[in-house]
Amino acid sequence: MSYDTVVVGAGLAGLTAALRLTEHGQRVLVVARGVGATHLAPATVDVLGYLGDARVENPASSVATLVASSRDHPYGHISADQLAAALDWFTTRAGALSYVGGVEENLLLPTALGVPKPSALAPRTMSGGDLRAGGRFVFVGFKGFKDFHPTLIADNLARARLPAPVAARALELELPAGRRVDMSGRVIAGQFDTENLSEWLITALQNRVEPDEHIGVPAVLGLRRADETWQKLETRLGRKVFEVATLPPSIPGIRLFDALASALRASGTRIVLGVRAVGARTNGGRIEAVDVANATGTVSHRTDAMVLASGGFASGGLELDSFGATRETVFDLPLIGMPETDRVRFAPGYFDAQPLSAAGVGTDDQFRPVDASGRPVYTNLHAAGAILGGAVPWKEKSGTGISVATGYAAAGAILAPAAQAVSEAVR
Ligand SMILES: Cc1cc2nc3c(=O)[nH]c(=O)nc-3n(C[C@H](O)[C@H](O)[C@H](O)COP(=O)(O)OP(=O)(O)OC[C@H]3O[C@@H](n4cnc5c(N)ncnc54)[C@H](O)[C@@H]3O)c2cc1C
Repeated sequence: MSYDTVVVGAGLAGLTAALRLTEHGQRVLVVARGVGATHLAPATVDVLGYLGDARVENPASSVATLVASSRDHPYGHISADQLAAALDWFTTRAGALSYVGGVEENLLLPTALGVPKPSALAPRTMSGGDLRAGGRFVFVGFKGFKDFHPTLIADNLARARLPAPVAARALELELPAGRRVDMSGRVIAGQFDTENLSEWLITALQNRVEPDEHIGVPAVLGLRRADETWQKLETRLGRKVFEVATLPPSIPGIRLFDALASALRASGTRIVLGVRAVGARTNGGRIEAVDVANATGTVSHRTDAMVLASGGFASGGLELDSFGATRETVFDLPLIGMPETDRVRFAPGYFDAQPLSAAGVGTDDQFRPVDASGRPVYTNLHAAGAILGGAVPWKEKSGTGISVATGYAAAGAILAPAAQAVSEAVR
């Protein structure tokens, strides 16, 4: 079988690229070893949270400052208009999750650890946790649910540097008997979807929150009907209610994966998980077929283009072997952002600037991986997301923003020649 594009990776970057290509009528195949970081990370889109040590308020203008001093940064290959268009596109495609925000302003949302984190976009179930205007907040946990600690969140917010005063307290509720068997986020979310847990929560909170308190609950309000449940809680409680990210797994991240994957499947795109891209058949500097290993052997999928969205070290797109060698795992592509000496791979402190944190593939403006002389390694290979070098996403708080923006732009680069051919034919 042959495809217009084979996308390697089912994280945010791969799904974004695949969906945009599919929407333009392309026949797309997505292959992935497994799901990506969606299932671990909160479903916010963080374009740029920090520039150096300064918290970013306006990502659009700070991205411009960042790329002026960091030429290899993935955002350096995207115009301001493209970045804004990518976020607009994402907001509408994640439809039922009702994202709010934009590229001109960061929300400031509490993390699972009670750290205020700047995010450009967030599902509206989470956006009410915006701390910028200050106020009184109560964080509600469920006894025995180990992935959410309201006291830790309230204590850490009390110590945080915030634009306006925030008063935060914790409240722990006991889930109704019979609902405490397996206290995992997935199970509790399932109970919100199917068993009317929201009625219990409304009753439990009614006389225990102050009239002016905003109510933060763990982000487990359902996998299928979270937005509906959130609306009901806000209406019935008459206060601002918001989901707060839990420790992994991330229920909002799973919702996001499901929304994008469903949109792809609805338009006939195949997503094959549990397989591994191992290389490609090439001819004259072009990829002609992608080799994909499954449990029984290797299958070659013929294709006109390929998007490599295989993630960084965590997802296996990059690997560091026991001899200290770092490599891109499918094509052994040249890497940028590497430390000058081979000897120092790790800084001693966990939160120190780690020497390999900017390692990844360097590209041209069409997101094609390039060699040391700046020429594309393959003319029809594009890369997107955490496989790209030149950024330090953990420090910048830019990982999900880079995935959406570069997934969108890589798809745009693949579509551009086709669009040009159509307009030339019309002329
Ligand atoms: C716990 C956690 C919390 C995070 N929190 C935040 C946050 O708050 N804000 C933020 O901006 N970012 C955060 N991130 C980072 C962010 O999630 C990532 O930067 C980003 O989403 C990466 O997306 P991606 O699609 O590029 O890669 P990934 O999501 O890593 O997906 C890579 C995909 O490629 C597949 N793959 C790899 N190799 C192959 C192969 N050879 N063949 C086939 N498939 C392959 C994998 O199976 C996977 O499907 C967090 C990450 C984690 C793990």
